[in-house]
Formats: sequence, structure tokens, C-alpha cells
Amino acid sequence: MEKVIIIGTGCAGLTAAIYAARGNFEPLVLEGREPGGQLSTTTLVENFPGFVDGIDGPMLIMNMKSQAQRFGARFQFSCVTGFERNGDRITLQLDGVDHIETRALIIASGASARWLGIERERELVGHGLTSCATCDGAFYRNVPGAVVGGGDSACEEASFLTRFASKVHLIHRRDKLRASRIMADRALSNPKIEPVWNSAITSYLTDAQNEVRAVTLKDLVTGQSRELDVKCVFVAIGHTPNTTPFRGKLDMDDEGYLLQKTGTHTNIPGVFAAGDVADRTYRQAVTAAGQGCAAALDAERYLAHFE
Ligand code: NAP
Repeated sequence: MEKVIIIGTGCAGLTAAIYAARGNFEPLVLEGREPGGQLSTTTLVENFPGFVDGIDGPMLIMNMKSQAQRFGARFQFSCVTGFERNGDRITLQLDGVDHIETRALIIASGASARWLGIERERELVGHGLTSCATCDGAFYRNVPGAVVGGGDSACEEASFLTRFASKVHLIHRRDKLRASRIMADRALSNPKIEPVWNSAITSYLTDAQNEVRAVTLKDLVTGQSRELDVKCVFVAIGHTPNTTPFRGKLDMDDEGYLLQKTGTHTNIPGVFAAGDVADRTYRQAVTAAGQGCAAALDAERYLAHFE
């Protein structure tokens, strides 16, 4: 029986691993389909405190992993496919076949950005295509950009991007934003933001360096297509928390984000949630790291009952 299992190797999971390992619990950390989480798909991270000149997202993740290993954290590639709790034992099903038991569980499985599903999309992430203006907006100074989506995230990303880009096209598939009134008004009254209604991107066009240089836009009312000159595209059509194995077992909101009761405790004793899997508001590397730390400390206090 493991003392602590941590699901996820993004900022939250790795910080939890560092703290749990330093607490001498030799945590087992499960790396799933997206090892390293969202940071592993970004380029320079300029807002993580302590790195004056920024740090490469994958490098930051690699450093955190090495730091956790130095204190005794163990890593294993496995996808969690099932979850049960009987008495004080938590059982996880791995890859649909194996089982593993633990006393405490930290869920830091993150949330995956939704993408449009257009050809070459995955390959262009970090080459003019991204899902986070707060992370990558500063790379696109004085060039035209686009944000896709009509929710609060899209409005927030578009407003943020106007600090850098010369112009921001807010591309939405309908003619009315889903965003809250205040966010929508703020975006639409910004002179640098131009809404592009009833439209969908159908392809990304790249230059010789394989960087985005334009997109093909389809007008969903007339059916006509045109090219739009943009050097960056921010897809902000929502995130999906990675909580499928816990549906019906742990309390979640209507979108599947885990609910924390006090601190990082979920509704089931011994099960803690940290980072984007339980955070639909901030979604920052540093807030995820903070939650990972809190979850490890909460787990440590929980485990003290068994000593
Ligand atoms: P959201 O509210 O679900 O909006 C997603 C947007 O993307 C919608 O406008 C949707 O279009 C569009 N969309 C979805 N799939 C698409 C596709 N395949 N192609 C093109 N467009 C697509 O997601 P969100 O904006 O990330 O917000 C999620 C939650 O976080 C919300 O509750 C929001 O209020 C909250 N949030 C709050 C803040 C804040 O208060 N500061 C900031 C960000 C997010 P339709 O409108 O046509 O469905």
C-alpha cells in the first residue's frame, strides 16, 4: 500500500511531489497522457517568480521533476481509469488493468485546453498558436493577432493581448458573445479589438519557418471564405478538467471541476485536489504550484492519523 499517490506531473502535481517527498512519504507520481501538463506545451514562462529572464516551460517542469526525485519521489507512466474508496483504502485502476492502493491521493490531473480540431493544430502550438494569452501574449508585439471564442476567457485573452498586438480579431462562431456583460463590454469597447462574427477558422497558414502567418476564415452565414492576416491565434474555447475516472464518486461542479471543501480536501477523506483540475478561475502555473504545496501538507496532516 502506498502512502501518497499523486496524479499528474504539471506544476501542481510536481510541487505536491516535492513537498510529500521532503515529508519522507516517498510519493508515487503517475504521469498520464500529457506529461508535464500545459507548461510542457508553452515556450518561455516569464511570470513564474524567481526567474528574472523567464524560463522555458518544459525546462521548468524538468527542474521540478528532478527536484522531486532528489527527495525520493518515484514516477510511473500510467493512466488512472478507475477509483474506489473502501474504509481507509483508496484503490486506483491503472490503464484499465492493474490496481494500486494508497492511503492518500492527490489529484492534480489538470485541465486540457479545447482545440478547434483543425489539421496541423497540435504541431503549431508554440509556433503562433496557443491557448494562453497571459503566458504567450508578450511574444506578439506590434503584429495582428486573433482570439477564438465568445466566452469570458476569449474576452479576457483578447483584452490582455491588446497590450502587445497591433490589432486583435475576436473570432466567434455566433453573432453574440456568451461572456458576462462586463467582460463583453470591456472587450467590445476596446478600439484594438475587432469582432469577427459568425465565423470559423478552417485552416492555419504558415510561413517558411512554420510560424502562423494567416488563417482561412469561413463566414458561417454566407459560406464564403477569406484569408485573415494574423501572426498569432489564441484558442479560448474552454478547458476540460481531467476528471473522468472520478465522475459520480467525487463532488464536481457542472463542468467537471473537482470541488474542494476546506483547503484542498475533496468530499472524500484522504483525497485532495490541486491545480487546474479544481480551478476554473486563475489557472496559473504559480497558483497551481501553491495548491500542490497545500495538498501535500493537507495529505501529511491526514496521514498523521494513521501513525
Ligand atoms: P465558455 O464560457 O464555455 O465559452 C467557450 C466559448 O467558446 C463559447 O463562446 C463557445 O461558443 C466557444 N466555442 C466552444 N467550442 C467551440 C468550437 N469548437 N469552435 C468555436 N467556438 C467554440 O468557456 P470560458 O470562456 O473558458 O469560460 C469558462 C468558465 O470560466 C465560465 O464560467 C467563465 O465565466 C469563467 N471565466 C471567468 C473569468 C473571469 O471572471 N475573470 C475569466 C475566464 C473564465 P458558443 O458561445 O457558441 O457556445
